[in-house]
Amino acid sequence: MCGIVGYVGSKRNAIDTIIHGLETLEYRGYDSAGIAYYNADNLNIIKRKGRIEELKNNLPSEEANIGIGHTRWATHGEPNEINAHPHHVGKITLVHNGIIENYKELREGLENNGYIFESETDTEVACAMLDKIYKDKNDMLLSLQELENTLEGSYALAILNDDEKDTIYAVRAFSPMIIALDGDDKFIASDVPAILEYTNKYYLLNDYDIVKLTHGNVTFYNKDLNEEQKQLRVFEGSMEAGMKCGYEHFMLKEINEEPTVMKDTIKYYFDGSIDSLMKSIPDLDKYNQIHIVACGSAYHTGLVAKSWIEEIAGIPVYCEIASEYRYKNTFYNKETLVIVISQSGETADTLACLRKAINDEIDTMAIVNVVGSSIAREADNVLYIKAGCEIAVATTKAYVGQIALLSLIALKLAYIHGKITEEQIKEYNDSLNKMDTLMQSLIKRDYKDIANKIYQREDIFYLGRKMDYAIGMEGSLKLKEISYINSVAYQAGELKHGTISLIEEGTPVISIITEEDIIPKTLSNVKETKARGSYSIVVTTEENIEADDLIIIPKVSPLLQPILTIIPLQLIAYEVAKLRKCDIDKPKNLAKSVTVE
Ligand code: GLU
Repeated sequence: MCGIVGYVGSKRNAIDTIIHGLETLEYRGYDSAGIAYYNADNLNIIKRKGRIEELKNNLPSEEANIGIGHTRWATHGEPNEINAHPHHVGKITLVHNGIIENYKELREGLENNGYIFESETDTEVACAMLDKIYKDKNDMLLSLQELENTLEGSYALAILNDDEKDTIYAVRAFSPMIIALDGDDKFIASDVPAILEYTNKYYLLNDYDIVKLTHGNVTFYNKDLNEEQKQLRVFEGSMEAGMKCGYEHFMLKEINEEPTVMKDTIKYYFDGSIDSLMKSIPDLDKYNQIHIVACGSAYHTGLVAKSWIEEIAGIPVYCEIASEYRYKNTFYNKETLVIVISQSGETADTLACLRKAINDEIDTMAIVNVVGSSIAREADNVLYIKAGCEIAVATTKAYVGQIALLSLIALKLAYIHGKITEEQIKEYNDSLNKMDTLMQSLIKRDYKDIANKIYQREDIFYLGRKMDYAIGMEGSLKLKEISYINSVAYQAGELKHGTISLIEEGTPVISIITEEDIIPKTLSNVKETKARGSYSIVVTTEENIEADDLIIIPKVSPLLQPILTIIPLQLIAYEVAKLRKCDIDKPKNLAKSVTVE
């Protein structure tokens, strides 16, 4: 969420470098953009509401060798030019990713001290606070240390000070930030893509680290201001991975990558033998209950896993939304395992839940895509999905990677609890061998026809039971995210307890029917909506089902079935959004990596 880029060096023009970096971070979501730089000792700040393009069109053509830039995803105050970053107070100019939770008290205190605020942001308060502290201490390191003791909440800050026009300072707590080097040129960024054109060498920061960057030098300090050595990391992925490779949208490209993601993720942990799972997935023997905690699509993968694990391993699983879990009473025992799932590994609420469990001395395991992210670093065990860089804001391939990995965890749990049969393992392996071809053929099918019939509707419902319901929730979320059509997923049996009153002539109802033992039950519910005029679309493994549109998908092991079922739902959402001319890869109001709570 939001992007920060900073540059100090001699090889490049800071303005172009920062703008280019911000463009590579566009996938994170934003609503305004701005830049600050020194040119011939003068500070220039230029900000615009809307896209980076708008900012670019308003930049003078000049050179600079130091500057900071920002794409803002508004949390405090509407997205407009005044609230956009950088903010400037006294001698301090800064950009911020995160939320300052005690900004109200701080603002009142500062106002009593004569500070006048232009914006509604929490960020300007942090800026004024630093200015005030600096006036007193006249030393940036001491001032930043005190600032960290004063601010509550989450922040990554890149800071300029008019007294040191050759230096950028950076601090972070609970918001992502990396430092990168190309010889004497130094970069700050929220994420790796921003620096990949120039260098693949970077450092990760810990919470409360303070960094001082000048041309030629980077110095890291911990919160006690002791100098620290950091491990230089090398990013192995290529920039090409971040490009569209001829696809019209990143989302379409990423759906096309799903077969590879599925294969790579499973192959990494499983060679077809249970032995390989015993070695590659951490010990799960002692756990008698599991809490799965996540947000959005990752939460939906948790619901699928809950349904599997309870069914085939016989262990209770509580699947919870992270923003709720972090503030509620949690009932752990010594045999509880907390599994957190996050594509970016930076999801603020999920990270907070992980810390809550660690604090309570409960074992934790993380399922993450981004290597070295905060969640990956802090969990007792981390299992990476092999999805590569996901650019489209609405997740598709990472969802598939998470499902693939969770299927292995379910398999292992079922095995160690003596509940799995040889026959089930064989069925899993047989399905696995066919998955690539089956997925490819589902991806190649044409969903435009169906999209044409439903894209002008205002409400679309999804129905399913058990695992099918969890997949329906994901289908519905995809549609909402990228097409802006109101949509709800319902447990098929629950519909008649209220929601059925919303079904009108022609209302599309997309039903998912793959759960063998309850097919007739869900079918009855489909009929109930049909009797009230719905337009019924059924995604199913069964052949003889009546529907206005029938999408038959191949039947595979229940542990792999969701990976096939989700493909038509993702592609229907994609085609609908295209017909509605939506910004598919960057839906309004959404951010890729949700680093605020
Ligand atoms: N809380 C800050 C604001 O609303 C920063 C938001 C962001 O991370 O972009 O301006």
